Amino acid sequence: MRFAHVGGDRRLASPGLVGVCPSCEVAVIPKCGPIRVHHWAHRGDRDCDHWWEPRTEWHVRWQDQFPAVWQEVIRYGPSGEKHIADVHTPNGLTIEFQYSHMRAEERAAREAFYSNLIWVVACTRLKTALPRFAAAGQLFRRVDQGIYLVPNSREAFPATWLSCRAPVFFDFEGAPGLADETKSIVAPLWCLLPTTNDGETVLLRFNRDDFVRLAHQSAQMPPARVLQRVTATVSHWEQAERRRAARFWREFAHRAKERDRNPRKWRPRGPARF
Ligand SMILES: [Zn+2]
Repeated sequence: MRFAHVGGDRRLASPGLVGVCPSCEVAVIPKCGPIRVHHWAHRGDRDCDHWWEPRTEWHVRWQDQFPAVWQEVIRYGPSGEKHIADVHTPNGLTIEFQYSHMRAEERAAREAFYSNLIWVVACTRLKTALPRFAAAGQLFRRVDQGIYLVPNSREAFPATWLSCRAPVFFDFEGAPGLADETKSIVAPLWCLLPTTNDGETVLLRFNRDDFVRLAHQSAQMPPARVLQRVTATVSHWEQAERRRAARFWREFAHRAKERDRNPRKWRPRGPARF
């Protein structure tokens, strides 16, 4: 962890200090080496929260977008179970920054524990993440600015992050395999919304600054008004698609009838326009 109690204060790890773990209240020692991010460690490197993952520069960069008192907040479940949230805002929003691989079972357990959770997921660990997303993205259907329908989420995203109950923000910054045409993928965050029963998978493009600003202000991410706009836009787009499909099949049936009525005179007119 990055923060421990030192003489009643909440302090970052620094050589010579002795801290107390805010969660299990045992002594923790500062680790301030040149390789890993400075942190507090329990003796024997045992972590008291089994959901905890070692901090990386990526975690620190993200967590420091938020005030220190919002970082590493202890949250209690109804049975007394407690976990340390990466960020928990005064509006009740929990943000977990996930860098390393996580099993789908643990992901589901955390989603059940934190009632109002969003994930921010680093896509830098796997060499294939960015090329895979870029390739799958060819099939995304753009509904409106920053709103996409994803027909192929299994191809686009790692399996752990499919069928989440919480929104997942994918961060490709620093991902291997960066080419010029993928720069537009790396700059924003990509928010995969939880899929409803009959709905399609919806993906939103989020400007990073907007993400941070809205996460500071809103009790929900994406904010309710954004979700309302997305729902309305997607439903409008789907209705227009259905009308277009209906026109196509009417035209198709009409041509077939013409052909059957007079097969000798009939000449192809090129494909019906969709
Ligand atoms: Zn502890």
